[in-house]
Amino acid sequence: MNSTNTKDLEFWDKEYVWHPFTQMRDYQQSKPLIIEKGQGSYLFDIEGNKYLDGYASLWVNVHGHNVPELNDALINQVNKLSHSTLLGSANVPSILLAKKLAEITPGDLCKVFYSDTGSASVEIALKIAYQYWKNIDPIKYKNRNTFISLDDAYHGDTIGSVSVGGMDLYHRIFKPLLFKRVSLPTPYVYRMTEFDRTEDVRDFCLQRLENLLQEKSDEIAGIIIEPLVQGAAGIITHPQDFLKGVELLCRKYNVLLICDEVAVGFGRTGTMFACEQEGVIPDILCCGKGITGGYMPLAATITSKKIFDAFLGEKNEHKTFYHGHTYTGNQLSCSVALRNIQLIEETKLLEKVQVNALFVHEQLKALHRLSIVGDIRQRGLMVGIEIVKDKKTKAVFSLEENKLDNIVQTARKKGLIIRQLDQVLTFIPILAMDQDDLRKAIDIIYQSISENM
Ligand code: PMP
Repeated sequence: MNSTNTKDLEFWDKEYVWHPFTQMRDYQQSKPLIIEKGQGSYLFDIEGNKYLDGYASLWVNVHGHNVPELNDALINQVNKLSHSTLLGSANVPSILLAKKLAEITPGDLCKVFYSDTGSASVEIALKIAYQYWKNIDPIKYKNRNTFISLDDAYHGDTIGSVSVGGMDLYHRIFKPLLFKRVSLPTPYVYRMTEFDRTEDVRDFCLQRLENLLQEKSDEIAGIIIEPLVQGAAGIITHPQDFLKGVELLCRKYNVLLICDEVAVGFGRTGTMFACEQEGVIPDILCCGKGITGGYMPLAATITSKKIFDAFLGEKNEHKTFYHGHTYTGNQLSCSVALRNIQLIEETKLLEKVQVNALFVHEQLKALHRLSIVGDIRQRGLMVGIEIVKDKKTKAVFSLEENKLDNIVQTARKKGLIIRQLDQVLTFIPILAMDQDDLRKAIDIIYQSISENM
């Protein structure tokens, strides 16, 4: 790309593209990073600069960029057909993928409803859970209109998924548009200093949940939770058996459990789905992001047969699930997703993630030496480094100090793409990244923090 083109593209980007989650005034004053190609664990910008993808291109990339097997899956499908509809017809890739998803999801999850973003998969789960109760007994369950979610929950950006969100910064402005939810404390061990032990944090939060359910389970349609780790809230790792405790309470009080595996599904935490690690089987599982290995937009909401069966009935019973998107079950997305999952199995990627997670854990230990590293949290290949002004008081830097932004920019100059979530630096590598690149990335993170202390 010659320099004139670079300049034009930078100008047009600022002139025409509205970037997500971005203060565009700041963006317009910055130099855009315009990515042009990728290979393995690396991305290349239009000026030929090379970056390690320490953000897995927004947590989606599994096998790397430009993977021949995934390219072939896509090309083969393009040569046959790019899209037909699931309204009144079926297609081969969506059938084969649904069968595969039913096989790899835990327990009796077996009915796959496709969509194209994680937010939509959550939206669909909420609508299914709500309608489930109305379908089985509209009189008895007439009040089951509310969902429980965690204080700092993030489940996406549509109005329904924002309604069950709890991140003030993103969600506050939309409050008047949202339906009501009941919130539960996040088991944020690092910040809940009133408790001595991790187990006490877990038991406190579970007790709060039990109190809530005792009081109003007849109003609750379901509980939605990010299993094991809350990603967008700052990689908040939950205490061991917290999820299991939530599941047991759902069963005890007969409310539905929805696991939002959009961020953690497809190997991110070292198992295909995170809920497997605590032997939890949700009624509804949402997934997206890694499902196509970072190639195509696709998401799925997968339910048990019990949930699905509640939607069977005569036409005049109105039990049908009236929901669907134009690209539901798109062939290109489903083809590449199926190949992605096969490749996870063929390359024994889950075992590799588990080994590399231990390696990363060892490498990260050095960061504790840095005076502004307050906490390091990790689940599989999902890392959050909480930056504090003072390790003792855990006070954070103000927005004006731009601390995390500066660290991220320094890392970029050194050839690593990472991002911050509020006060937390996140390192979410491509799942197949090898140990040399993982070490290199962590070295850059170390240097970038120390140069900005
Ligand atoms: N749920 C979780 C747990 C997520 O992390 C995300 C995205 N980061 C979403 C839902 C929304 O997914 P999408 O951005 O694809 O709509």
